[in-house]
Amino acid sequence: MRIVVLAGGIGGARFLRGLKQAEPDADITVVGNTADDIHLFGLKVCPDLDTVMYTLGGGIHEAQGWGRADETFTVKEELAAYGVGPGWFGLGDRDFATHIVRTQMLGAGYPLSAVTEALCDRWRPGVRLVPMTDDRVETHVAVELDGERRAVHFQEYWVRLRASVPALAVVPVGAEQAKPAPGVLEAIAEADVVLFPPSNPVVSIGAILAVPGIREAIADADVPVVGLSPIVGGAPVRGMADKVLAAVGVESTAEAVALHYGSGLIDGWLVDEVDEAAVPAVTDAGIRCRAVPLMMRDTDATARMAAAALELAQEVRA
Ligand code: GDP
Ligand code: CA
Repeated sequence: MRIVVLAGGIGGARFLRGLKQAEPDADITVVGNTADDIHLFGLKVCPDLDTVMYTLGGGIHEAQGWGRADETFTVKEELAAYGVGPGWFGLGDRDFATHIVRTQMLGAGYPLSAVTEALCDRWRPGVRLVPMTDDRVETHVAVELDGERRAVHFQEYWVRLRASVPALAVVPVGAEQAKPAPGVLEAIAEADVVLFPPSNPVVSIGAILAVPGIREAIADADVPVVGLSPIVGGAPVRGMADKVLAAVGVESTAEAVALHYGSGLIDGWLVDEVDEAAVPAVTDAGIRCRAVPLMMRDTDATARMAAAALELAQEVRA
């Protein structure tokens, strides 16, 4: 079975771990979000690609969900001693090495997709991890700070400001000019099923779909597309999806996110059991819908979620 998964960071990575357990023989291509990427200290940092790579490769800081296990912060402290920031973005020593290798290879002329493949040679994530694009895309968030409207990088909104002010608009800057990375459209065309894990519908999956050609390829492919709700009981399980959903005029409910994707894009949608009441409205909108436990408490629970998504895809196909 060939499975394509559009993934953000933590939600996507944890789901993928469950999917691999549920379908160990599947051929999985992960289209990773790169709109969260940021340049820091002259280095190209790709938080979502790295979260997937470290999680599936066994190097993730489990409790935190991002960054490396057994991390130290000597480089960051030394930079701070020089007065060189930003100090609000947590880059550990082990993590720095990844960004140095990546930046060095990009500087030598390799596209991000080739660099990602090279990094995965070490981590062996057991999936093919492809960035959504080799081009530069950066999500910016419009906010009002001290009475002035300005745009900040998504990481500044999320990590520095802790999403403490409303997001007035969310723009994946550069997406319109970006091209899907090599292999993305091919993987979609050859897929038996496309899955949207419980990743952020705006800044993760929304950014991937904003690369011209990707949304169209998924909508036009004759293949079941099934998503899992990142919203449970009217709130994100973690993170700021509610803030960025509000910016695009979507309520933070499992039902509203399904309708936001729409029946033109997704064929099936899983909501958590606590959102069982959403099932009829989603079904009425032409999207097959089931309520199942959607909390990724551990890999076994997550594998059951993945199996439920594949079962729903099977029903769509039939
Ligand atoms: P990020 O890039 O690290 O923010 O990760 P993603 O975009 O892949 O996923 C973030 C989304 O995952 C958030 O909107 C969360 O609500 C959702 N999420 C995290 N843990 C769980 C879980 O256990 N169950 C469900 N249903 N959603 C989750
Ligand atoms: Ca992210």
